[in-house]
Amino acid sequence: MGVEIIKSKIRDVVDFPQKGIVFRDLTTVFKDADCLRELSDMLTAIYAEKGITKVVGIESRGFIMGPILATRIGAGFVPMRKPGKLPAETWQESYTKEYGVDVIEIHKDALCENDVVLLHDDLLATGGTMLAAYNLVKRFNPKKVYVNFLVELEFLKGRDLFPNDVEIESLIKY
Ligand code: 5GP
Repeated sequence: MGVEIIKSKIRDVVDFPQKGIVFRDLTTVFKDADCLRELSDMLTAIYAEKGITKVVGIESRGFIMGPILATRIGAGFVPMRKPGKLPAETWQESYTKEYGVDVIEIHKDALCENDVVLLHDDLLATGGTMLAAYNLVKRFNPKKVYVNFLVELEFLKGRDLFPNDVEIESLIKY
C-alpha cells in the first residue's frame, strides 16, 4: 500500500470547525487496519535508527500514532497537553492562533538532556502549534529534536517557521 491509497482515505469535512475550512479527517484512515499498520510501518522506517528515546505527542490527535510509533522504535511516550490537564508541575508555552491565544503544557520531569526527542502531531497547518511545542521541548536542552506530521498542508508554509536545521518529515502532502 502506498501513500496515495492512505491519502484517498482521508475524509474532507467542509466547514469544520468553522465556515470556510476544509478539515482533513484522519479517523477514516485510522479505522482501516491496513492503513493503520502502513502508517506505523512508514513512520518506523523513518525513525527506527535515529536513537530516539522519547516520542512527544501533541493533544489530542498526536496521541494516536505517537504511542504506536514509540513502541515500534523502543522509545517512551510523553503527552503535551492543553492547560490544566497534566497533574504534576508543568512548563507552559503560549502561542497566538487566529482567534486568541492557546497554551500547551508538558511535565517538568518529562524530558532530560540525554533525550533524543521526536515531536509528533497528525497535521501541520500554519505551524503555530508545533512551533510552540518545539520551543517547549528545547527548554529541556535535549540532544536532538525531530519533528513529524502525518499530513502537511504545504501551501500554508508552516515549516518556514522552524530553524533550517530542524528535520521535519511529513508523509502525506496537500
Ligand atoms: P497549526 O497550529 O499548524 O495551524 O494547526 C495544527 C493543529 O491543528 C494540529 O494540532 C492539528 O491536529 C489541528 N488541525 C488543524 N487543521 C486540521 C485539519 O484539517 N485536520 C486535522 N486532523 N487537524 C487539524
